[in-house]
Amino acid sequence: MANTYSSNLKSYACNDTKSRGRLFAEDTPVYRNNYQRDRDRIIHSAAFRRLEYKTQVFVNHEGDLFRTRLTHSLEVAQIARSIARELGLHEDLAEAIALSHDLGHTPFGHAGQTALNQCMKDHGGFEHNLQSLRVVDKLEQKYADFDGLNLTFETREGILKHCSLVNATKLGDVGQRFVDKTQPSLEAQLTDLSDETAYNNHDVDDGLRYGLITIDELLDIELFKTQHDIVTKKHSSLSQRRMIHEIIRRMINVMVVDLIDTSRKNIEQAELKTIDDVRQQHQPLISFSENMTAQKLELKQFLRTRLYQHYQVHRMSKKAGAIIQALFDAFMDDTRILHPETRESCIELEKTRGDAGLARGVADYIAGMTDRYAIVEYERIFNPRQLSFASLIP
Ligand code: MG
Repeated sequence: MANTYSSNLKSYACNDTKSRGRLFAEDTPVYRNNYQRDRDRIIHSAAFRRLEYKTQVFVNHEGDLFRTRLTHSLEVAQIARSIARELGLHEDLAEAIALSHDLGHTPFGHAGQTALNQCMKDHGGFEHNLQSLRVVDKLEQKYADFDGLNLTFETREGILKHCSLVNATKLGDVGQRFVDKTQPSLEAQLTDLSDETAYNNHDVDDGLRYGLITIDELLDIELFKTQHDIVTKKHSSLSQRRMIHEIIRRMINVMVVDLIDTSRKNIEQAELKTIDDVRQQHQPLISFSENMTAQKLELKQFLRTRLYQHYQVHRMSKKAGAIIQALFDAFMDDTRILHPETRESCIELEKTRGDAGLARGVADYIAGMTDRYAIVEYERIFNPRQLSFASLIP
């Protein structure tokens, strides 16, 4: 008998026994529910393992203490599961969405995505959200019966957080909500805000550790200052590291508590009965209070100007962009330098879709690289000192 997830599940939550199903029909697993199976397939995918060596803001090899996309995804899953459990929503589904939401990211974080999107501007562009869906629908190729991981509709819906109207119409069922302007499941909504909660807080931590921002600067930010004052009043002689951790863990906590309280009120007011009621709402029901939204925006704005636009981050982004652009141009110019397997899938795409197909294949290859693999691949192709045959072998 399948292990259905029933404890405390609300009538308007996603229910694994009533899933809209998978692209390729499969039997329900024996001892797991359908969303657990999704989560397990994600964890066993190659794209998931590669998250360990991909970064958001800082390049992976710069320090062992910084977040990677893997640890970020685990933090998002932790926050999402807490919220889902408290609101009576499906925890396994929230976890599956959280662990897969960043699978389509390029190496070198946002700089990599911007560069690859630029490379692809005449071939349909590149968007990490769409790419995450492409990874789980097509690019992971190891199951006998289907390409991709064949995940449920509900997990795929959660992965596709944003989508242009043009792309939405090409995606079938999972893109339909962008055309209809309806809402995704509450599990998808809460995972989206868990993502923000995780990175806003861990970027403060990483930024401080890296010395790009200071506690003094952060005291202008209400969300930080409130918790800072509580911690320093309670503990007068804490080491800086402990103090920072105390402040950040409290910031995460007040944000999560605010989100749960506000969302619970929204849900009550909407008088939801089924998941269809969730979908028909004019706006998401999972939200922060107005006050917390304003505080969160203040913090985001601070991170944008002081951290993401710091000249040292810009320098790294410039270098990362140049690597991506050079790799893309080299592969497009001469596919013979690609590994035969990669070349074969690129040529396959070229056959059906011409140049745009070839470019998509090259973009898939580059997007799948980790930070360090992209650097090594660049060296292999462009470093004149690496002319020995051994150094060219992947
Ligand atoms: Mg994320």
